[in-house]
Amino acid sequence: MLSTAFDWNLDLDFCALFFISILMVFLLRRQILPLRQNIIFLELMGCHILLALADIMASIMLSFPGVYPISMLYMVNMVYYSLRILSAGFFLMFVLAVSGQMYRSSVRLMLLLMWPIVAMLVLIATAPLNHFVFYIDEFGEFYYGDGRMLIYGVSIAYYAMAFIHVYERRKKLKRISRWSVYFFTMFTGIGATMQQFVTPHTQTLSLGVTAGLLIMCLSEENPDVFRDRITSIFDADGLELLYKEYLHYGRYHRVGVMAFESYQEVRSTYGDEVMNVFLEKVGTHIRLAFPKDNIFYIHNGRFLFLDEGDDIDAARRTASEFFKNPVRTSKGDIMLTPCFATFDSKLRPGSYEAMRDAMLLGLKEALKQGDGASVEVTQEMLDEAVHNLEIEEALDRAIAGDGLEIFFQPIYDTRKKRISSAEVLVRIRDEKLGLLMPDQFIDKAEENGAILALGQRVFEKTCEFIRDHDLDELGLDYIEVNLSPVQCMREQLAYEFREIVEKYGVDYSRINLEITETDSTDSTVAKENMEALMSSGISFSLDDYGTGFSNLVNVMNLPLHIVKIDKSIVWAYFNEGNTTLLHVLSIFKESEKEIVCEGVETLEMAQELSKLGCDHEQGFYFSKPIPREEFLDYLKEFDEVV
Ligand code: C2E
Ligand code: MG
Ligand code: MG
Repeated sequence: MLSTAFDWNLDLDFCALFFISILMVFLLRRQILPLRQNIIFLELMGCHILLALADIMASIMLSFPGVYPISMLYMVNMVYYSLRILSAGFFLMFVLAVSGQMYRSSVRLMLLLMWPIVAMLVLIATAPLNHFVFYIDEFGEFYYGDGRMLIYGVSIAYYAMAFIHVYERRKKLKRISRWSVYFFTMFTGIGATMQQFVTPHTQTLSLGVTAGLLIMCLSEENPDVFRDRITSIFDADGLELLYKEYLHYGRYHRVGVMAFESYQEVRSTYGDEVMNVFLEKVGTHIRLAFPKDNIFYIHNGRFLFLDEGDDIDAARRTASEFFKNPVRTSKGDIMLTPCFATFDSKLRPGSYEAMRDAMLLGLKEALKQGDGASVEVTQEMLDEAVHNLEIEEALDRAIAGDGLEIFFQPIYDTRKKRISSAEVLVRIRDEKLGLLMPDQFIDKAEENGAILALGQRVFEKTCEFIRDHDLDELGLDYIEVNLSPVQCMREQLAYEFREIVEKYGVDYSRINLEITETDSTDSTVAKENMEALMSSGISFSLDDYGTGFSNLVNVMNLPLHIVKIDKSIVWAYFNEGNTTLLHVLSIFKESEKEIVCEGVETLEMAQELSKLGCDHEQGFYFSKPIPREEFLDYLKEFDEVV
C-alpha cells in the first residue's frame, strides 16, 4: 500500500465549491420546472458541492496526522469516495432522463444499472475492515488501497455509458441536449486525466466538473428554456413535458385553466403592445401570488395551473378576486373577466392531448356561460376530446396511407333532363373508426393544415376518374370538386393543380371547382389562383350560397358563372314559405348565372324548382353521394325523372 504526501493544492477545489454553489443558488432562485431531469440535475449539483467540501475537509484533516480522531478521518473519506461514485450514477440517471429512457426502463433494468454503485458503496463503507479502497493507520496516516482504481474505473464506465447512450440516440435528441452531455463528459474526462497524469496534486477534476456543470446550466438545464418570454412563467412546451411525467408516474393531479372573456376583441382594440404589458403584469402577479405552483402560459391569454392537491380552487378564487380590479397599462386600465375550466385526473385522461382538448371544451363552455363562470370538465367532454383526437389520427392515417375515398353525387340538369355533372365528396375509410363523413374531419383538416394534402389527393382521384372514363359517353359535362378556403390561399395551388391535370392528361374544361365565399376569397393569392386556373380552362362555382358568409356584392364581382344555393335556403322555402329563394333566383337569373339548388329531397321539390327556373338540382331525391361503381351503375339506369 502506498502512503500519500498531503501537499495538495486546494485552490481549484475552493473555486469549484464557490462556482457550483453560485450556480445552484442561480437555479433555485429561478423556479425550475420540476421535471425528473431537472430534479436529478439539482441532485447532481448538490452531490458535487458536497464532494468538493468532503475533498477539502479530507485533505485538510489528513495534512495533520494525529490531530483528528481516526474514526472521523474514516468517515470523511468514506463520504468522499461514496459521493465520487454517486456523482457518476447521478450523471447516468440524468442522461437517461434527458433521453426519455427513464420512462421506458423497467425497475429491473434500473437495478441492473445501479448494482455496481451499491457494491462500491458497500466496499467503501467496509474500508476500515478490508482496507480495500483506502486505509488509515493508527497514526492517522492515509494509504490508498488496491480497490481505489476500481472506484475510478466504475465511475469512468458510468460516464462512458452516458456518452454512448447519447451518441447512439444522437438523431432523436435535440442538438442542445446532445452537446451539453458531450461537453460535460469531455470536461470531466480532461480534468480527471490531467489530475491523474499531469498535475497529481492539483484538483483539476473539480475544475473540469465545474466547467461541465456551467455548460449544462447555460444550455440543457437553462431554467429559462421553458419560460414564456412575456409573462416569465413556464410555457406550453414545458407543460407538455411535465404533464407527460405526471401521467407516466400516475400522480394524482388537478388542472385549472383561466381564460378571459372577449380577450380577442380587447386585444384587437388595444393592440399587441398594450396587451403584452397586460400579460406581463398578470404573469408577475401570478408568480408572486403562487411562487411554488406549476403555472404555465399557454397562449391567447390562457393560463394553466397544474397541482397535486386542492390548491386549484383556491387559485381560482384568488384570481377572480384579483381581476375584480383593472390592470394598469400605459394606455389605460384593462378590465377583463376570467373564466375557468378545471379538470381532475380521476377522469384518467390517458394522454396530454386528451387533457388539453378536454380542457379547451370546458373552457369553451365556461366562456359561453360568461360572467366569470367555472366549469368542471366532465367525462363526456373528455370522451368527446378523445373521439376528436381519434378522428385526427384517422385523418393522418388516411393521408399517409390510402384511406381517402371519393363518392359522387349526381347533379340533374332541368333543361337537358338528365344527369349532366356530379359533385365529388370525400370520405375516410378507416380500419378502426369505419366510414367517416366530411363534417367529422374537414374542419380539423383545415385547422391543422392537412386539408392541403387531402385536397390534392381528392383532386388527383377526380382526374384519375376523368382519365379512366369517357365523360361524353356517361353524359357528364364536368365533375365538381370542393376547394377549401385554406387551399385557395396557397400560392402554389394553381401550379400544383395544373401539374396534376397534365399528369393525368385530362381536359381542363371537364373540371369545375367549388369555392365558398369567405374573407380569404377576397385575397390577392386566392384571386390569382382562380385567374390562373380559369385561364387554363377550369371553371368555378360558388358553393353554399346563403350559409351566412356570402355577400351579394362580392359574389357578383367573382368571375364565376355557377352559384349553388345552399339547402337551408331551399328547405326554408318549402318548409316555411320563406321567399329568400325566390329573390336569390331572380337576382342570379338577371345576371345570367347558372343556378344549382342543393338539398332536393322529393319529387315535388324537384318539379317546383324546375318551374322556378333552377338550372340544376342536387339532392337525395336523385341520389345520396355514392361510391364510383354505384355511381356508374346509377348513370346507366337513370331515366327521365322530371
Ligand atoms: P357541400 O359541398 O355543400 O356538399 C353537399 C353536402 O350536402 C354533402 O354532404 C351531401 O351529402 C349533402 N347533401 C346533398 N344533398 C342532400 C340532401 O338532399 N339532403 C341532405 N340532408 N343532405 C344533402 P357531405 O358529403 O357530408 O359533405 C359535407 C361538406 O363537406 C360538403 O358540403 C363540403 O363543404 C365538404 N366536403 C366534402 N368533400 C370535400 C372535399 O373533398 N374537400 C373539401 N374542401 N370539402 C369537402
Ligand atoms: Mg360542394
Ligand atoms: Mg354545398
